[in-house]
Amino acid sequence: MSAPSRMGPSVSMDCAVDLETRHLFPTYAKTPLRVVGGDGCRLYDDGGRVYLDMLGGIAVNALGHAHPRIVAALREAAAEERILLHSSNLYHHPYQGPLAARLATHIGLSRVFFCNSGSEAVEAALKLARARARRVKHLRDFETPEIVALHGSFHGRTAFALSCTGQKSYRAPFAPLVPGVKFVAPDDPEGLVRAVGQRTAAVILEPVQGEGGVRPIAPDFVRAARALCDNAGALLIADEVQCGLGRTGAWSACRQAGAAPDLVTLAKPLAAGLPLGALLGRDELAQNLGPGSHGSTFGGGPLPCRLALAFLDAVEQEGLLAAAETRGRRLMTGLRALAKDGGPIEEVRGRGLMIGVVLRGKASEMTDALLERGIVAGTAGERVLRLLPPFVITDGEIDRFLDVFASVLAATGRAGGAP
Ligand SMILES: *Cc1c(COP(=O)(O)O)cnc(C)c1O
Repeated sequence: MSAPSRMGPSVSMDCAVDLETRHLFPTYAKTPLRVVGGDGCRLYDDGGRVYLDMLGGIAVNALGHAHPRIVAALREAAAEERILLHSSNLYHHPYQGPLAARLATHIGLSRVFFCNSGSEAVEAALKLARARARRVKHLRDFETPEIVALHGSFHGRTAFALSCTGQKSYRAPFAPLVPGVKFVAPDDPEGLVRAVGQRTAAVILEPVQGEGGVRPIAPDFVRAARALCDNAGALLIADEVQCGLGRTGAWSACRQAGAAPDLVTLAKPLAAGLPLGALLGRDELAQNLGPGSHGSTFGGGPLPCRLALAFLDAVEQEGLLAAAETRGRRLMTGLRALAKDGGPIEEVRGRGLMIGVVLRGKASEMTDALLERGIVAGTAGERVLRLLPPFVITDGEIDRFLDVFASVLAATGRAGGAP
């Protein structure tokens, strides 16, 4: 097939897939699902088949697809004759300030830096922590301000964020990475005590680990990290790119665990599908990211900020924090009822609508079996089925998922192995 001279929707899906195979770096092992549209918790493929979306674009589509408020915000913007898609961060525009103020209220931290992704938000947090430690701890040039991170964590793919990601297979090909990172097991509070010291600039943790297997960190551990940071004059960074902004039933999963972080990173659901990341921090930390110290060309552009304001409207006015909590409980209870001694389910864990089902077999075989039956779900590692459905999922949709999942489990039992 020759490459068409004009790209766009006029290209057949077969052709689009073929072009991907030939021209994209093969970074993703893609599922052969061709998505062309969605509404609510439903996705549509190019043949018109409907799927129940239990993955929400990896926690991005918290409002599902084509949410009326998001569609209205897009329409309103697109209808403006003098629509401003970019103004650069050298100038003011009408949407960054209001968005920053509302995020500040919800997260309880008053300063915001906008960027485009989770990795960039983490990168900004780590840079801030290092610059601050260098300054307030009077470190000499050859002394490294240290970061303490957790085994099993995921903080992103850029160099500093990757250096703090507690999964060797992600880091190994790119060594040497940023020095001065120590890893501690999330179930080893004594290890944490040993790791945090006077050279520590920050402890970074996901209150609920996502990519590493949907693993909630014990609130005691999070609070211990807070206390150790206070003693060592270090910052507590909560990476809430996946678990924040309502996913666990709270604006901040770290606060929900009973600890007030110094820095919080946000991204995935923030602009309802457009790229937008944010670092939030205490007011006193403002001087550590002074003029010229850090920046982003696209970060906090007018359109992503408008959509983020609409996302916050929806979460606030449609009671979606409570919804994530109660719908999460319904899903979790239903899943736990399917876990039997010696059955295919080893454990069900998570918080709110962030749920991992640890299987005895391969999670990818489960997602394949679910997809055949019209359900999109994800994996986190070899054996964890990952569920991150939109907050707008209905009770009926949860029950339908549970029915289909039960039938796949029953088939697994009969076959004595893979579904
Ligand atoms: C997804 C994720 C990131 C990275 O976000 P990108 O937008 O892919 O750069 C960082 N931290 C956590 C906890 C994440 O889940």
